[in-house]
Amino acid sequence: MNFRRIEEAPDGKVALVRVDFNVPMSDGKVSDDTRLRAALATIHALQQKHCKIVLLAHFDRPKGKRVPEMSLKPVVEPLAKLLGSPVAFVDDCVGEAAKAAISALPAGAVALLENTRFHEGEETNDPGLAQQMAALGDFYVNDAFSAAHRAHASTEAIAHLLPAYAGKQMERELDALDAALGHPKRPVLGIVGGAKVSTKLDLLRHLISKLDKLAIGGGMANTFLYAQGAKIGASLAEKDMADTAREIIAAAKGKCEVLLPVDVVVARELKPHAQARICKLDEVADDERILDVGEKTIQRLREAMKHAHTLVWNGPLGVFETPPFDQGTVLAAQDAAALAKAGKLVAVAGGGDTVAALNLAGVAGDFTFVSTAGGAFLEWMEGKPLPGVEALKR
Ligand code: AMP
Repeated sequence: MNFRRIEEAPDGKVALVRVDFNVPMSDGKVSDDTRLRAALATIHALQQKHCKIVLLAHFDRPKGKRVPEMSLKPVVEPLAKLLGSPVAFVDDCVGEAAKAAISALPAGAVALLENTRFHEGEETNDPGLAQQMAALGDFYVNDAFSAAHRAHASTEAIAHLLPAYAGKQMERELDALDAALGHPKRPVLGIVGGAKVSTKLDLLRHLISKLDKLAIGGGMANTFLYAQGAKIGASLAEKDMADTAREIIAAAKGKCEVLLPVDVVVARELKPHAQARICKLDEVADDERILDVGEKTIQRLREAMKHAHTLVWNGPLGVFETPPFDQGTVLAAQDAAALAKAGKLVAVAGGGDTVAALNLAGVAGDFTFVSTAGGAFLEWMEGKPLPGVEALKR
């Protein structure tokens, strides 16, 4: 993908760096510092260039107003600890106080500016606000892929006002996504699961135009099975989406092979360790619910993975939060991870529940790349241009 990288940025200047510090907090303290640690690679790279590093970030949804509980101040101490050096804090992301604090920073030092969303212009992508932010630095770095699906002043407008580069984390994400759907090594297999077809229509439509094979699982597979006349008992399904499901199958014909479950795990109750059985599609009783994919389906998925060079995955194959209905997802994830670890498969996964499912399977670390960027990852999988990324392209 043709975007500017940090290595090309000038030395000894003021870098305005958009990061994702929308961290979990409890009692006014950062309770998970994953996102802070994720920003360190970019900060260190800029320190090596003797730049001053000025961090821009949003936190929560203050809707254009100054909300004290949504201040970024609680981030300062844990970030300074991770960096091993002090972090200056300015209580506004624009203006004279910020200017003065930045000019007082020594080279390689870090300042964090207050929540960009305290200004109304942030979410409206206001050019005036972007101009005021841009006035604080010499160049712009975006390291917040997870915010790149939104055209906001600190993610989009500002990138047109200063030379703009992708940060290290953004770079990793874009390179992984490009290897998965942009310029993938074929054949490409997709796995899409999750609860509903209706929330993933754009995703399915885009994927059938990009993939060689698409395996559908989870609650959404029930809708497809129902549309094909299978018995699905009391399963979760969107019966009013049956026509849509048939349209998707028809549109895929000749382009992308769609794999639906051939057997399923059913139970009368959804509760941990409920009595469950594996059965064929025509054996689901009226009061049973399909809660996971069956053994044969997993075996077929395993074969498909073996013959693929690239895998892109979103959504669990069953109700993975409730064992034993986690087994389909866990076994498939372990297979994909083993192939990725052996260098036989480029395996990229993302989306909130998917990350949780891969963590449950204990294999997230063996995937080629796991995106934690929720909405941005899904919009990318839907083939939509991400404004924050488009602005970084040459
Ligand atoms: P999504 O957010 O659309 O990716 O959906 C994830 C949710 O789908 C998880 O909470 C799963 O428990 C749920 N899910 C997966 N398979 C099924 C199924 N067969 N029946 C009901 N819910 C399911």
